Order: sequence, then structure tokens, then C-alpha cells
Amino acid sequence: MDTVERAAALRQYAEETSTCTRCALAQGRTQVVFGSGSPDADLMFVGEAPGFHEDQQGVPFVGQAGKLLDKLLAGIELNRADAFVVTGRKCRPPGNRDALPEEIAACEPHLFRQIELIAPTVVATLGNFATKLLSGKPAGITKVHGYEQEVTLGARSVLLYPLYHPAAALYTPSMLKVLEEDFARIPALLDRTVDEPPAASELAAVELEPDPESVQLGLF
Ligand code: URA
Repeated sequence: MDTVERAAALRQYAEETSTCTRCALAQGRTQVVFGSGSPDADLMFVGEAPGFHEDQQGVPFVGQAGKLLDKLLAGIELNRADAFVVTGRKCRPPGNRDALPEEIAACEPHLFRQIELIAPTVVATLGNFATKLLSGKPAGITKVHGYEQEVTLGARSVLLYPLYHPAAALYTPSMLKVLEEDFARIPALLDRTVDEPPAASELAAVELEPDPESVQLGLF
């Protein structure tokens, strides 16, 4: 697909998604927050769910966490327009509560279709929810952040790169340094093509058991 076709396909999918009633979150939303950025992006960010401001404006990460995301991107000389930013659930949950299994199941096909259309090489998950969703593993973000994993998402093989949710650094300032260090590896990951996978020795040995220290970030 060339750039024009990709942009058109994504626009059409956004239109289809805008009337989604696959789960009960449709009843409380102002609008579906489809995502934003470049349809040609090699880098995608996947967050958790829209919060109050995102629901109002129809754009993900427009609040304080979003400002920090922009700052972290600027630190590696990228900006939003170089990436595509989405959330795992596209409608605001009441009170920003955690996801219900039926919401995850309902929204996952939207996310996979977006990944298929945008065809990124690196998918950076922001926080526990998106990381567990896309890795399909129970290991929490405190264990796996900063370590890329090769995964197949829908029909696409990508490097999954778990990161702390930027909101974590708003509440725990020492987390900012960790986020900056993890973001600093993104350019090198983007330089690596998925056709030439990294040697197994370069990939971190990630433990698979649940991480008791990790907390679900229900922060917006
Ligand atoms: N947190 C998220 O995960 N997504 C947003 O859009 C805003 C905050």
C-alpha cells in the first residue's frame, strides 16, 4: 500500500469505528478516540484508554501525560507526527476504571486493524495494560520495560517495546529518568528492520511470571 492508499484506508476505518457499539462503553462516550499521527509511521504508541480530555477532544494523550509524552519524544528528536498514537480501548471508561474483559475483546480487533494498516516496525506499549494486552504475557511493566520483544500482532511481526506509562512519572518523578533512558533506545530499534531480527542474545531474558510489584496504572 502506498502512502495515499494507506491514509485513505485509515480514514475510512476511522469513520467506520466512529459509530462502534461493540461494547457498553459506547453509551458513555462523547466520541470514539481513534488515534492520531502519521499513517506511515514506523513507530506506534499504544496507551490504555481515553481520559476526560481525550474523550472531549477526540485525540489521545492530550492531558498532562500527553504533554510528557511529547517531551519524551522531543528528547529523541521525534514528535507526534513521526509516530501514530492510539489507546487499547478507544472509548472512555466511566471514572477511568480498569478494562473489563468484554471491552478488551470488543476493542482488540480495532487495534489489530490499525496495526495492520499503519504497518509499524516498533510498537511501544505505554504501561501495564497495553503491555500485557499485546505481549499476551502476564509479566508486569516493572520487569519488562525497556526490553524489546518480537511479537506477531494480527498478521504483522513487530518489535514490541514496553514502556512505563508517562502518567507514572507525573506521580513518581524519579520515574522520569527511567522513561528517558527507555525512550533513548527507540531510534536504534527503529533502525533495526523486522526482516533482520535481532540475535537472541540481544533480546532480554524476560521472566514470565506475574509481577507482584507492578500496579495497574489507572491514571489519566
Ligand atoms: N492515558 C492513556 O492511556 N491514554 C490517553 O489517551 C490518555 C491518558
